[in-house]
Amino acid sequence: MPRYEYRCRPCDETFELSRPMAESSDPASCPAGHEDTVKLLSTVAVGGSASSAPASAPAGGGGGGGCCGGGCCG
Ligand SMILES: [Zn+2]
Repeated sequence: MPRYEYRCRPCDETFELSRPMAESSDPASCPAGHEDTVKLLSTVAVGGSASSAPASAPAGGGGGGGCCGGGCCG
């Protein structure tokens, strides 16, 4: 059974619940009994890995202003 993470606003804390996926969007009460909770994105990876985009910047990239070689810059 997947676990879901919720955040209780009155408590200002997060808690986890194990519940069927069909009930993942149902209101959840925090351990203290508050019902003012919001569902957080699940941090449990069930199959599949998170794809992180490689941060490889293309070589070069500086603007090449070759203007001052031709005498157009005054
Ligand atoms: Zn609470």
